[in-house]
Amino acid sequence: PTLVSLHGVSKVFTNGVTALSGFNLDVRAGEFVSLLGPSGCGKSTVLRLIAGLAEPTAGQVTWPGSPHEDHRSEIGFVFQEPTLMPWANVADNVWLPLRLRGLSRRDAQERILGSLSLVGLQDFAKAYPRELSGGMKMRVSIARALSLKPRLLLMDEPFAALDEITRFKLNDDLLKLQNDLHCTIVFVTHSVYESAYLSSRIAIMSPRPGRIIAEVAGEAPGP
Ligand code: ADP
Ligand code: ADP
Repeated sequence: PTLVSLHGVSKVFTNGVTALSGFNLDVRAGEFVSLLGPSGCGKSTVLRLIAGLAEPTAGQVTWPGSPHEDHRSEIGFVFQEPTLMPWANVADNVWLPLRLRGLSRRDAQERILGSLSLVGLQDFAKAYPRELSGGMKMRVSIARALSLKPRLLLMDEPFAALDEITRFKLNDDLLKLQNDLHCTIVFVTHSVYESAYLSSRIAIMSPRPGRIIAEVAGEAPGP
């Protein structure tokens, strides 16, 4: 079944830039789809539209089969920069989305530790971001995104700033995570290698205006 569907979507910014035009994408439950394309082709804009952080100028973003009006609690978002709060320890950073949902630190504790163990950082709950490597900070970001048990994980070039070895390791861990959690992932990258290795489907985008020019199967098995 289709989880989220973008149909005939265009996005024109107030400065006149047309980021997307005639953009169509169906994200099916359980799949790992990569959006692959050069910088500036509109990949982040697609994620922001799915997340409801921006509105399309034309076309629709729909969630067939979802009873909710507000889809934010169904979405985990991982940004390129880990964006951790430096003054808060790892557990309190992971708490943030739960806190915004009204969960006290005490009520959130089990969820926080559960999320941290998914990324292998259960022993680092009391550590501060400055004590962690780049890869570990990214794992904390992923744990934070997973803390609300989202149906859909949106990832915007999450590993682009990491060295290759860390990146390959996190690629493997992400595949395992998706296999264990059966969540749906939309993954933005400009790496052909990464998209092929990780995804069951690759949507290739071209810029000006951003649209999908081809879809190909990735190496990872689909749902
Ligand atoms: P990508 O993620 O593929 O690098 P983006 O979605 O970030 O691409 O951007 C697509 C195009 O839209 C680019 O030309 C970018 O400069 C432009 N753009 C993105 N956000 C804004 C904005 N808030 N205002 C104006 N132009 C924007
Ligand atoms: P990552 O790929 O997560 O960045 P690194 O290999 O870069 O991991 O980690 C840097 C250092 O941090 C490692 O040498 C290791 O000592 C420590 N480290 C990373 N993850 C863990 C973990 N889950 N448990 C204990 N130590 C870890």
